[in-house]
Amino acid sequence: MNIFEDTIVGISTPLSKGAISIIRLSGTESIKITNKVFKGKNLNKVESHTIHYGYIKNPENNDILDEVLISVFKAPRTYTVEDVVEINCHGGVFVTNQIYNLLIEQGARPAEAGEFTKRAFLNGRIDLTEAEAVMDVIDAENKSFSKVANNALRGTVKNKIESLKEKILNIIAIINVNIDYPEYDDIEILTNDVILPKIKDIYNELVDILKYSKSALYLKNGIDTVIIGKPNVGKSSILNALAKEEKAIVTNIPGTTRDTIEVKINLNNITLNLIDTAGIRTTEDIVEKIGVQKSIEKLEQAQLVLLILDGSRELEEEDYQLLEQSKNKPRVIIINKSDLPQKISQNTIKDAVVVSAHDVNGINLIEKAISKQIQLEGLENSDVTYISNARQIQKIKETKTALEEAIEEINMGEFIDLVELSLRKAWNSLGEITGEVNTDSLLDELFSKFCLGK
Ligand code: GDP
Repeated sequence: MNIFEDTIVGISTPLSKGAISIIRLSGTESIKITNKVFKGKNLNKVESHTIHYGYIKNPENNDILDEVLISVFKAPRTYTVEDVVEINCHGGVFVTNQIYNLLIEQGARPAEAGEFTKRAFLNGRIDLTEAEAVMDVIDAENKSFSKVANNALRGTVKNKIESLKEKILNIIAIINVNIDYPEYDDIEILTNDVILPKIKDIYNELVDILKYSKSALYLKNGIDTVIIGKPNVGKSSILNALAKEEKAIVTNIPGTTRDTIEVKINLNNITLNLIDTAGIRTTEDIVEKIGVQKSIEKLEQAQLVLLILDGSRELEEEDYQLLEQSKNKPRVIIINKSDLPQKISQNTIKDAVVVSAHDVNGINLIEKAISKQIQLEGLENSDVTYISNARQIQKIKETKTALEEAIEEINMGEFIDLVELSLRKAWNSLGEITGEVNTDSLLDELFSKFCLGK
């Protein structure tokens, strides 16, 4: 059942010159309004999910504005659960705006940012995690994150949260049944033997989600990475090789100051935000010949360290110093120049990746090692739920805190009602993730981040 009376219209493609633009309408009047400006079949009589060729005309004077294809989707099997029309017109800014304005003159209202997706949510077709995933799919810059976002769009996050909610409700039910029909004479048996392990299980699931969400955030935002190593080990060469990988893009973001990220490399699966202060300049001379001291300073800011050693030379004091300084950071040790006679035994340096900057296979090995370091292997494993959304992560943390309270209350021998209250709090926080529990301001803020026409 639709809850909106007005019909909205938005331009769903970027407003710049292109082959086609798509103008979308949603609401009970979508088909009627479009039909008023369409020269072709009577759209009021066509079947749902069909496409029609014709022209857009100004109904005032019958002037033809463009040649178009119109898709008609009747409720409820549509993006918004309402009647939806999509007009494919030519991708000119002027012509697209003209058709858009004509539709407004005929009774449609300009859609706000994200309003189509908001309607899909409010009309009950998707939950909030799926709505947020729509935005993530659009924003994704690498294969791994695109996969995370698409999984969420298909409901993996929703299902996980729903299952956790159900488990909490189950415990609440056990408590209530027990209060009403006490089958356990001793309340301590109920709390310690029956409820406590169940709460701890849920708690552990939340800990896991938070652990993997860190990796998901890396995928979404890129990993702040430093490349360190003494002069001439091959830092520039490896960076260039990474940047020149077929699918890699090096972006020099102009106007950035010394302490900011200046280069972003989209590898096939992951994005590295290379932190360098003055070091990164051009793709030809991408890493300054920086000293060890400078490398150590840069370590502070890094989420990932790529430590490069020269395999053709004995390890020196400076190498040992860098190995020591970076040992507590997530790092990948790369022994470079494997094409030359080797002086570093792989036994000395455990878990190192042995490569030559001149060989593309080495680059793949480095990418694999980075994936392992930031725990991405679970991506292939459907049991792992990646949450990359800050709002959702915050709610998971609140749920975890509420469960901690429940555990604490049980351990302190508090009244069972108090435990139940904490469990309800946990359930509520989870409900806010899926949107079952929501506020208007939350929805306004969330959907305003969408692009227009989405
Ligand atoms: P950086 O000072 O650490 O940035 O080192 P560079 O990338 O400038 O490399 C120093 C020298 O080592 C250059 O002459 C490179 O061509 C050479 N080099 C880098 N990687 C390799 C490699 O894998 N094999 C060989 N044989 N030479 C390399």
